[in-house]
Amino acid sequence: MTFVFDYKPPAKAPEDAFWFLFQEHRLLLRHENESYEIPRTRDVEKLDPAPVRKQFLGSLEGLPCFFAELSDDVSVSDGFTLTGLRQLFARSGEDVIRAAGTANQLRQWNRNHRYCGQCGGPTEDKADERAKICPRCGLTNYPRLSPAVIVAVIRDTRILLARSPRFPGDFYSVLAGFVEPGETLEECVRREIFEEVGIAVENIRYFGSQPWPFPDSLMLAFTAEYVGGEIRVDNTEIADADWYPSDRLPKIPPRISIARRLIDWFVEGDIRQQKT
Ligand SMILES: [Zn+2]
Repeated sequence: MTFVFDYKPPAKAPEDAFWFLFQEHRLLLRHENESYEIPRTRDVEKLDPAPVRKQFLGSLEGLPCFFAELSDDVSVSDGFTLTGLRQLFARSGEDVIRAAGTANQLRQWNRNHRYCGQCGGPTEDKADERAKICPRCGLTNYPRLSPAVIVAVIRDTRILLARSPRFPGDFYSVLAGFVEPGETLEECVRREIFEEVGIAVENIRYFGSQPWPFPDSLMLAFTAEYVGGEIRVDNTEIADADWYPSDRLPKIPPRISIARRLIDWFVEGDIRQQKT
């Protein structure tokens, strides 16, 4: 039950191949009672007008999967629904979520790179890798990734959590920010934490990573220790921030995110310490 990213399509899409079909940011799902499924080739054949800009994505559960775009006026029949990707989080397994996220990221890249950024000519899909090439000037474009750090800052037995006006919902989370050109990940961790809350950190350790296709981030998670400074918030990026012990956490992000994995790591480590 895995999702494998690939660029080489099979000669023919089988009847039961998966299709990730987007109308802007909304994904088409087959909806039966309480279950939501990714549509198959036989479902897609009934759509009118037919999806456009079809691309191969890879394989899911051993079956080929594709993505494409739906026009605004497509008629969605009974038993189908268009839903936001974040809603899929509560309804699907991790592999389906990863495949759908990757499809959404590539869908936008595919649409935004139909023409060459250098000479303006139409581009073509490269045959031997996931890339667009301009036959006129030779410029090659790969899907872009935007690396971002996400950091659990620990001060003794408390974790730094903040609320941002950008977060959907009213939860508190660990701090995050995009890596800038010419910057190491460690420099980015120090800069982001200092810029957003005025805290200095050290002992930065890699924790793990997660693709975050909204639209094209790769989250690189770290843990770090407080070394100095007092919390101050700028009220634009961050509305509120504080140090929280593991037994008095505010509302935190859902389980699927690496932010939540960092917070869970802190809570579990704290519980272990209390036991010894
Ligand atoms: Zn060109």
